[in-house]
Amino acid sequence: MKVAIVGAAGRMGGRLIQAVLDAQGLELTGAIERPGHPQIGTDAGLLAAVGELGVPITDNLATTMANADVLIDFTFPDVTLKNLEICAKQGKMIVSGSTGFTPEQKAQVGKFAEQIPVVLAPNMSVGVNACFKLLKEAAKILGDDFDVEIVELHHNKKKDSPSGTAVRMGEVVSETLGRDYNQVANYHREGMCGERTKEEIGMQTVRGGDIVGEHTVYFIGMGERIEISHRAMSRDMFARGAVRACQWLQGKDAGLYDMQDVLGLS
Ligand code: NAD
Repeated sequence: MKVAIVGAAGRMGGRLIQAVLDAQGLELTGAIERPGHPQIGTDAGLLAAVGELGVPITDNLATTMANADVLIDFTFPDVTLKNLEICAKQGKMIVSGSTGFTPEQKAQVGKFAEQIPVVLAPNMSVGVNACFKLLKEAAKILGDDFDVEIVELHHNKKKDSPSGTAVRMGEVVSETLGRDYNQVANYHREGMCGERTKEEIGMQTVRGGDIVGEHTVYFIGMGERIEISHRAMSRDMFARGAVRACQWLQGKDAGLYDMQDVLGLS
């Protein structure tokens, strides 16, 4: 299976190059960056510190995808939507880890997924996806008696807040408790904002240094508290998850899938 990576020079880019090289049955045939990026023309292998691979970084997704079966995209929602358009035109599959999509942008992704197989997941790690499953179970057992609060920590270069993973965690709990996440998520508490409502889910973000990503969901009851936490120590497991998604996509019909599908947890 021939794989191209977009966002190749980014924090995830080098890890993805390494993960594709390590994976069975995958071959890296393309690496793409934004026009004007200083690494255009550099060999992709040098970004992952594995030596030259004969795969120069280009700024042309359309021509690069002509020699690829699947695109791994770790960029940003507006870029991902343009990439989806090109992949849909060429009938190519896509695995995207980009985060920060608005509900309207998510709906646009869904439209492209009517034409091609798409995996979109705000967190590709097996551990976080196991947490999604655990959260569903915890919410089922604890019901409305426990207040739910979510805290996430990331590095100081992260552009979107709260993280796509924290939002997904909030959605999983809301869906299980029969609430509408967009109605109950509370991102701001300041001044005399009143008592907490029973339904709300507090969302707090911390940004600093080089934190790869940490998420904790608190279920807070009277006299007891449950915390479900995930801490990422490196970016490699996100990259390994993306590669696993590529392998899983082979032979799949057009549709929108996530890591729960890839891991058989849905
Ligand atoms: P980054 O800023 O280090 O890298 C993004 C790269 O995309 C940059 O090199 C940038 O130049 C490139 N880019 C921007 N516009 C482009 C364009 N038009 N064409 C081609 N390339 C373009 O960011 P990062 O930390 O690598 O994260 C990238 C994305 O992945 C973010 O949305 C982040 O939240 C997400 N992420 C997801 C997961 C997951 O498991 N799903 C894990 C980590 C990060």
